[in-house]
Amino acid sequence: MRAPARETRHLFMPQSEKDPPTQTPSVLIFGGHDPSGGAGIAADIATLLALGCHPLVVITAITVQNTKELKRYQLLDPELVAAQAQALIEDAPIAACKSGMLGSAAIVAAVAATVAALPEVPLVVDPVLHADRGGRLGEDDLVAALRSSLLPRATLVTPNIDECRALTSTADPDRAAEALAALGCGNVLVTGTHAATPDVVHRLYQAPGDTVEESQWPRLDGVFHGSGCTLAAAAAAHLAHGESLADAVNHALRYTWESVRRAYRPGAGQEVPRRLWPVREVNR
Ligand code: PLP
Repeated sequence: MRAPARETRHLFMPQSEKDPPTQTPSVLIFGGHDPSGGAGIAADIATLLALGCHPLVVITAITVQNTKELKRYQLLDPELVAAQAQALIEDAPIAACKSGMLGSAAIVAAVAATVAALPEVPLVVDPVLHADRGGRLGEDDLVAALRSSLLPRATLVTPNIDECRALTSTADPDRAAEALAALGCGNVLVTGTHAATPDVVHRLYQAPGDTVEESQWPRLDGVFHGSGCTLAAAAAAHLAHGESLADAVNHALRYTWESVRRAYRPGAGQEVPRRLWPVREVNR
């Protein structure tokens, strides 16, 4: 017999018999809206909910895309981005921050000013520059602004090989991590999904120059939309729960691989990671 879903039990249970409250840390996310639900803030929200966090969502851009192609994007007014974040930080304690698509130097500046007011809070930066199916997700001034104002504040930055090349002019993971360290990035996870290797090899450089931890995963067949967003949001979730950086990254890598392994195809294009798998499996 199948157990009733957790939600149903709560609805019919008297208040005193509810499960004890659990810690639900809030994570402040900055990113673009992808209407296909594959990437961007929809991916972040699903990941954070699956991993027991509450998402506080600041939208930076509206994109026009489906699972097949990116058609265009429209950035929001940087002042509106800053105001969304300000309203949230006045209200709720924030356990971690995560940025995705920022799109322009002016929006990077708005985000950098917001996180400067939260100096103790870990920040995960996914340096989104392009859609994985092709098409830019930012203006010409984006890379320089990320390098000068946001990467130096990052607790963790999660570039793939293409983003390493754009940010540091080298796709060699060791040299890219060194160059990012020189900018002041605390820790760098160079992801291996875009590299032409049989298995996917991710490299975590902690206090770059000091330690490198390699983690190897069987490459899954298919092209997945929003896996980078999932990974960075999962790392932010685990940091929000108070894990060490190495634990947060390793747990985020496992969660992302498991989400991609269960991916599904909602449209005619790329597959989308099944991010709510832990919730479904608990409630079954
Ligand atoms: N954010 C938005 C709004 C996007 O549209 C995309 C890709 O299309 C991304 C982030 C990055 O997605 P991925 O996780 O596949 O790198």
